[in-house]
Amino acid sequence: MMATADIHALHAEDDEAVLRALGLTQPRALPAAEGAISKEALDLLARLRAIVPRRPLFGSSAYRIAEAQAHAVRRHLDITTAQIPTEALEALPFLTVTYRDGFPTSGMATRVKEGWIIVIRADEPQVRKRFSLAHELKHLLDDPYMGAKGGVLADGLYPATPTATAHERTERICDAFAAALLMPRTHIQRDWLEGRTDIAYLARRYGVSRAAMDIRLRQLRFVQDTPRCAPPGREQR
Ligand SMILES: [Zn+2]
Repeated sequence: MMATADIHALHAEDDEAVLRALGLTQPRALPAAEGAISKEALDLLARLRAIVPRRPLFGSSAYRIAEAQAHAVRRHLDITTAQIPTEALEALPFLTVTYRDGFPTSGMATRVKEGWIIVIRADEPQVRKRFSLAHELKHLLDDPYMGAKGGVLADGLYPATPTATAHERTERICDAFAAALLMPRTHIQRDWLEGRTDIAYLARRYGVSRAAMDIRLRQLRFVQDTPRCAPPGREQR
Protein backbone atom coordinates (compact mmCIF):
# COMPACT_ATOMS: atom_id res chain seq x y z
CA MET A 1 0.00 0.00 0.00
CA MET A 2 1.45 3.31 -1.00
CA ALA A 3 0.88 6.60 0.72
CA THR A 4 -0.15 8.55 -2.34
CA ALA A 5 2.16 11.37 -3.30
CA ASP A 6 2.99 12.26 0.25
CA ILE A 7 5.03 15.30 1.01
CA HIS A 8 7.60 14.61 3.63
CA ALA A 9 10.75 15.78 5.29
CA LEU A 10 9.85 19.34 4.66
CA HIS A 11 12.41 21.39 6.50
CA ALA A 12 10.96 24.43 8.08
CA GLU A 13 12.90 27.66 7.97
CA ASP A 14 9.92 29.36 9.45
CA ASP A 15 7.82 27.04 11.60
CA GLU A 16 4.87 29.40 11.80
CA ALA A 17 4.61 29.80 8.03
CA VAL A 18 4.88 26.07 7.44
CA LEU A 19 2.29 25.25 10.05
CA ARG A 20 -0.06 27.87 8.62
CA ALA A 21 0.41 26.45 5.12
CA LEU A 22 -0.54 23.06 6.49
CA GLY A 23 -3.56 24.46 8.26
CA LEU A 24 -1.89 23.53 11.53
CA THR A 25 -1.70 26.84 13.30
CA GLN A 26 -2.75 25.15 16.49
CA PRO A 27 -1.41 21.63 16.47
CA ARG A 28 -1.74 19.51 19.55
CA ALA A 29 0.89 20.24 22.13
CA LEU A 30 4.27 19.25 20.80
CA PRO A 31 6.32 16.73 22.78
CA ALA A 32 8.58 19.41 24.12
CA ALA A 33 6.35 22.42 23.89
CA GLU A 34 7.92 23.77 27.05
CA GLY A 35 11.35 23.76 25.49
CA ALA A 36 13.71 21.80 23.35
CA ILE A 37 13.08 18.16 22.55
CA SER A 38 14.24 16.03 25.48
CA LYS A 39 17.66 14.43 25.54
CA GLU A 40 16.05 11.06 26.08
CA ALA A 41 13.98 11.49 22.91
CA LEU A 42 17.01 12.60 20.92
CA ASP A 43 19.02 9.63 22.22
CA LEU A 44 16.31 7.24 21.12
CA LEU A 45 16.14 8.88 17.69
CA ALA A 46 19.93 8.67 17.38
CA ARG A 47 19.92 4.98 18.35
CA LEU A 48 17.25 4.13 15.80
CA ARG A 49 19.00 6.18 13.11
CA ALA A 50 22.36 4.56 13.84
CA ILE A 51 21.00 1.24 12.53
CA VAL A 52 21.19 2.68 9.01
CA PRO A 53 24.77 2.92 7.66
CA ARG A 54 25.85 6.28 6.22
CA ARG A 55 26.29 5.07 2.67
CA PRO A 56 24.06 4.65 -0.37
CA LEU A 57 22.07 1.42 -0.05
CA PHE A 58 21.22 -0.84 -2.95
CA GLY A 59 19.44 -4.13 -3.44
CA SER A 60 18.23 -6.21 -0.55
CA SER A 61 20.46 -4.55 2.07
CA ALA A 62 18.16 -1.52 2.23
CA TYR A 63 15.24 -3.84 2.99
CA ARG A 64 17.15 -5.88 5.57
CA ILE A 65 18.17 -2.71 7.37
CA ALA A 66 14.63 -1.31 7.30
CA GLU A 67 13.41 -4.59 8.80
CA ALA A 68 16.05 -4.45 11.55
CA GLN A 69 15.10 -0.86 12.34
CA ALA A 70 11.41 -1.74 12.54
CA HIS A 71 12.34 -4.56 14.92
CA ALA A 72 14.29 -2.07 17.07
CA VAL A 73 11.26 0.23 17.31
CA ARG A 74 9.12 -2.70 18.52
CA ARG A 75 11.80 -3.72 21.00
CA HIS A 76 12.08 -0.19 22.35
CA LEU A 77 8.32 0.03 22.77
CA ASP A 78 8.35 -3.44 24.34
CA ILE A 79 5.64 -4.70 21.98
CA THR A 80 5.32 -8.47 22.05
CA THR A 81 1.78 -8.74 20.67
CA ALA A 82 1.09 -9.40 17.00
CA GLN A 83 -0.62 -6.05 16.58
CA ILE A 84 1.36 -2.96 17.48
CA PRO A 85 -1.04 -0.50 19.13
CA THR A 86 -1.39 2.75 17.19
CA GLU A 87 -1.11 4.61 20.51
CA ALA A 88 2.35 3.14 21.07
CA LEU A 89 3.60 4.66 17.81
CA GLU A 90 1.87 7.96 18.56
CA ALA A 91 3.63 8.04 21.93
CA LEU A 92 7.17 7.94 20.51
CA PRO A 93 8.78 10.85 22.35
CA PHE A 94 10.33 12.65 19.39
CA LEU A 95 7.13 13.10 17.41
CA THR A 96 3.59 14.39 17.56
CA VAL A 97 0.92 12.78 15.44
CA THR A 98 -2.05 14.82 14.33
CA TYR A 99 -5.05 13.74 12.24
CA ARG A 100 -6.73 16.05 9.76
CA ASP A 101 -9.85 15.52 7.66
CA GLY A 102 -9.33 16.10 3.96
CA PHE A 103 -5.55 16.43 4.22
CA PRO A 104 -4.27 16.39 0.61
CA THR A 105 -2.09 13.32 1.16
CA SER A 106 -2.34 10.18 3.29
CA GLY A 107 0.54 11.31 5.43
CA MET A 108 3.34 13.77 5.83
CA ALA A 109 6.25 14.21 8.20
CA THR A 110 7.70 17.61 8.87
CA ARG A 111 10.32 18.94 11.24
CA VAL A 112 9.69 21.93 13.42
CA LYS A 113 11.80 23.44 16.19
CA GLU A 114 10.20 21.32 18.88
CA GLY A 115 10.51 18.00 17.13
CA TRP A 116 8.58 16.26 14.41
CA ILE A 117 4.97 16.39 13.36
CA ILE A 118 3.40 13.58 11.39
CA VAL A 119 0.10 14.56 9.83
CA ILE A 120 -2.23 11.72 8.87
CA ARG A 121 -5.34 12.16 6.78
CA ALA A 122 -8.15 11.44 9.23
CA ASP A 123 -10.85 10.39 6.77
CA GLU A 124 -9.17 7.21 5.60
CA PRO A 125 -9.67 3.67 6.90
CA GLN A 126 -7.96 2.92 10.20
CA VAL A 127 -5.73 0.28 8.61
CA ARG A 128 -4.48 2.74 6.03
CA LYS A 129 -3.85 5.40 8.67
CA ARG A 130 -1.74 2.94 10.65
CA PHE A 131 0.28 2.05 7.57
CA SER A 132 0.73 5.73 6.67
CA LEU A 133 1.95 6.50 10.19
CA ALA A 134 4.52 3.70 10.06
CA HIS A 135 5.58 4.77 6.54
CA GLU A 136 6.07 8.40 7.61
CA LEU A 137 8.07 7.26 10.64
CA LYS A 138 10.65 5.80 8.25
CA HIS A 139 10.87 9.10 6.35
CA LEU A 140 11.49 10.82 9.67
CA LEU A 141 14.20 8.32 10.66
CA ASP A 142 16.00 8.58 7.30
CA ASP A 143 15.64 12.32 6.87
CA PRO A 144 19.14 13.47 7.90
CA TYR A 145 20.66 11.26 5.20
CA MET A 146 18.42 12.12 2.29
CA GLY A 147 20.21 14.17 -0.33
CA ALA A 148 22.69 15.73 2.05
CA LYS A 149 24.64 18.41 0.19
CA GLY A 150 27.95 17.00 -1.00
CA GLY A 151 29.63 13.98 0.49
CA VAL A 152 28.84 10.33 0.18
CA LEU A 153 25.08 10.79 0.56
CA ALA A 154 24.62 13.56 -2.01
CA ASP A 155 22.06 11.36 -3.77
CA GLY A 156 20.43 10.19 -0.55
CA LEU A 157 20.36 6.76 1.01
CA TYR A 158 18.53 5.19 -1.91
CA PRO A 159 19.95 6.62 -5.14
CA ALA A 160 18.26 6.00 -8.48
CA THR A 161 18.99 2.73 -10.25
CA PRO A 162 18.42 1.92 -13.94
CA THR A 163 14.94 0.66 -13.02
CA ALA A 164 13.71 3.07 -10.33
CA THR A 165 14.06 6.71 -9.36
CA ALA A 166 15.40 7.63 -5.94
CA HIS A 167 11.88 8.73 -4.96
CA GLU A 168 10.36 5.39 -6.01
CA ARG A 169 13.04 3.47 -4.12
CA THR A 170 12.54 5.64 -1.02
CA GLU A 171 8.79 5.03 -1.09
CA ARG A 172 9.29 1.26 -1.40
CA ILE A 173 11.72 1.19 1.50
CA CYS A 174 9.31 3.21 3.66
CA ASP A 175 6.53 0.76 2.75
CA ALA A 176 8.81 -2.17 3.61
CA PHE A 177 9.63 -0.61 6.98
CA ALA A 178 5.93 -0.08 7.67
CA ALA A 179 5.15 -3.69 6.70
CA ALA A 180 7.90 -5.01 8.98
CA LEU A 181 6.75 -2.84 11.87
CA LEU A 182 3.08 -3.77 11.54
CA MET A 183 3.60 -7.40 10.45
CA PRO A 184 6.84 -8.68 12.01
CA ARG A 185 8.38 -11.66 10.29
CA THR A 186 8.67 -13.76 13.47
CA HIS A 187 5.01 -13.30 14.43
CA ILE A 188 3.80 -14.07 10.91
CA GLN A 189 6.01 -17.15 10.81
CA ARG A 190 4.61 -18.44 14.07
CA ASP A 191 1.05 -17.81 12.97
CA TRP A 192 1.64 -19.58 9.70
CA LEU A 193 3.30 -22.60 11.29
CA GLU A 194 0.46 -22.86 13.80
CA GLY A 195 -2.09 -22.91 11.01
CA ARG A 196 -3.33 -19.33 11.11
CA THR A 197 -3.15 -18.74 7.37
CA ASP A 198 -6.38 -16.99 6.49
CA ILE A 199 -5.49 -13.60 5.03
CA ALA A 200 -8.62 -11.83 6.27
CA TYR A 201 -8.05 -13.19 9.78
CA LEU A 202 -4.37 -12.23 9.74
CA ALA A 203 -5.18 -8.74 8.44
CA ARG A 204 -7.56 -8.19 11.38
CA ARG A 205 -5.08 -9.70 13.81
CA TYR A 206 -2.31 -7.27 12.75
CA GLY A 207 -4.52 -4.24 12.08
CA VAL A 208 -3.61 -3.95 8.42
CA SER A 209 -5.52 -4.12 5.14
CA ARG A 210 -5.92 -7.45 3.39
CA ALA A 211 -3.89 -6.05 0.50
CA ALA A 212 -1.01 -5.16 2.81
CA MET A 213 -1.12 -8.61 4.43
CA ASP A 214 -1.18 -10.29 1.02
CA ILE A 215 1.90 -8.34 -0.08
CA ARG A 216 3.71 -9.18 3.17
CA LEU A 217 2.94 -12.89 2.87
CA ARG A 218 4.28 -12.91 -0.69
CA GLN A 219 7.35 -10.97 0.37
CA LEU A 220 8.01 -13.52 3.13
CA ARG A 221 7.33 -16.30 0.59
CA PHE A 222 4.44 -17.82 2.50
CA VAL A 223 2.22 -17.18 -0.49
CA GLN A 224 3.54 -17.83 -3.98
CA ASP A 225 2.65 -15.73 -6.97
CA THR A 226 0.55 -17.78 -9.34
CA PRO A 227 2.48 -18.28 -12.58
CA ARG A 228 0.66 -16.76 -15.50
CA CYS A 229 1.89 -19.49 -17.85
CA ALA A 230 2.87 -23.10 -17.39
CA PRO A 231 6.61 -23.69 -17.70
CA PRO A 232 7.75 -24.51 -21.25
CA GLY A 233 7.22 -28.12 -22.23
CA ARG A 234 4.23 -28.64 -19.96
CA GLU A 235 0.68 -28.60 -21.09
CA GLN A 236 -1.62 -25.92 -19.82
CA ARG A 237 -4.24 -27.36 -17.55
ZN1 LIG B 1 6.43 8.45 1.50
